[in-house]
Amino acid sequence: MSAVQNASVQTRLLIVGGGPGGYVAAIRAAQLGIQTVLVEGAALGGTCLNIGCIPSKALIHAAEEFDHAQHYAGSSPLGIKVQSPSLDVATLMTWKDGIVGRLTGGVGTLLKKHGVQVVRGWARIVDGKTVSVEVEGGEPVRIQCEHLLIASGSTTAELPMLPYGGRVISSTEALAPTEIPKRLIVVGGGYIGLELGTAYRKLGAEVVVVEALDRVLPAYDAELTKPVDAALRKLGVELLLGHSVLGPTADGEGIRVRSAAENEDGRESEIRGDRILVAVGRRPRTEGWNLESLRLDMNGRAIRIDDQCRTSMRNVWAIGDVAGEPMLAHRAMAQGEMVAELIAGKERRFIPAAMPAVCFTDPEVVVVGLTPPLARQAGLDCIVALFPFAANGRAMTLESSDGFVRVVARRDNHLIVGWQAVGRAVSELSTAFSQSLEMGARLEDVAGTIHAHPTLGEAVQEAALRALGHALHI
Ligand SMILES: Cc1cc2nc3c(=O)[nH]c(=O)nc-3n(C[C@H](O)[C@H](O)[C@H](O)COP(=O)(O)OP(=O)(O)OC[C@H]3O[C@@H](n4cnc5c(N)ncnc54)[C@H](O)[C@@H]3O)c2cc1C
Repeated sequence: MSAVQNASVQTRLLIVGGGPGGYVAAIRAAQLGIQTVLVEGAALGGTCLNIGCIPSKALIHAAEEFDHAQHYAGSSPLGIKVQSPSLDVATLMTWKDGIVGRLTGGVGTLLKKHGVQVVRGWARIVDGKTVSVEVEGGEPVRIQCEHLLIASGSTTAELPMLPYGGRVISSTEALAPTEIPKRLIVVGGGYIGLELGTAYRKLGAEVVVVEALDRVLPAYDAELTKPVDAALRKLGVELLLGHSVLGPTADGEGIRVRSAAENEDGRESEIRGDRILVAVGRRPRTEGWNLESLRLDMNGRAIRIDDQCRTSMRNVWAIGDVAGEPMLAHRAMAQGEMVAELIAGKERRFIPAAMPAVCFTDPEVVVVGLTPPLARQAGLDCIVALFPFAANGRAMTLESSDGFVRVVARRDNHLIVGWQAVGRAVSELSTAFSQSLEMGARLEDVAGTIHAHPTLGEAVQEAALRALGHALHI
């Protein structure tokens, strides 16, 4: 890793934040011959590699394996029998940290290979072309640039009535347990809360999810989330839907909640747990480093950007979570790559046809493009067709025939405008879904493509065939 030693540095591009947005922008910029400095205050790889996507998927995988082992300790239709399994949390954490270490180390190597200068320290804005960086154990470094790219990401949102500390933890602490709590309360039924809640349940904790709205994953339509709700209940996760959090109990050992469904004032009750995971969303990291002095146009708490990720100030760009929803690593990366190309003089715009979103719940959920309600809202007359995994051979051999693939296509010309799926391992179908939208596929294109047998992907072809009125296997 190259470190800047001198106290004043000039560069063409200065990137604040080494998460997926910032480091991808740096690599692409360096490939295009743009002199680039990247400042990172915590760890390269950002939220995604260190405390987000990657460690959460590692924990989810381990939980699944443990759950399978427990399943085999009982009676299994597969005839597999094992003795009762046990879990060594410390070993699990070492394995997870090893993956994180390999990936973040890889980012450092890539940046070095491309000649990006990495400065370790927290950046503070001086003006639109200058930042000063507090470097640990050294003089502050002043960096001047032609282009400033803000990729400072996001932090976990806090509930004012339930601040972090003691039993109350965020996803960051939930991803690094020293032991599995006996009872975990998860506040928030969005994807982070449900992914972690499911993992903890499979690792042996009793789990109760408290969600203010009347269903889990409220960002998606009810047809899509119903199999997730059913699977959570089957797994033994208690769902307190339509309940809002009032604050901690007097003894600090739980939370007070109010049901919206009861009488006008709602009925209050208390729930106890050894850990209380608050997963109610993420906040753009726009405070605490004098960013406000630039007086950029904002969109709520996020920096307002146009379809080229330009902010309201010339040559100041913003990408990823700091620029608001959807807060997804692949969006940050795609924007970072684009900004580097724009600075290099290429003509680009950020207008993707597909922005896949995946929930790694059990079953998994994938949403790409327009759902039926969104298509209706957009005034489109659409055909919606669904193919259930119950009629898919591969799903049966995976002991997992819950869920379906759904396609949304324009009635007039059969252009596909959306794909959704819920089921085991459907995250891998997101590639086919995104490619079909980006390439402007019509129902006939997907229906006429030979899909390998036996695969879950056959359900994709069958959904298209069904939309055309001639599904073969249902
Ligand atoms: C538990 C969890 C699970 C997730 N799972 C998924 C998933 O499965 N798929 C998905 O797409 N997304 C997922 N996300 C979201 C994903 O992590 C973010 O969308 C992504 O990391 C955003 O990238 P970014 O580059 O914008 O910001 P970040 O990854 O947040 O990186 C920003 C970086 O900037 C640094 N920084 C900030 N301010 C300064 C400063 N002043 N000076 C120096 N450095 C600074 C920070 O230290 C940080 O490293 C998950 C998030 C969480 C919390």
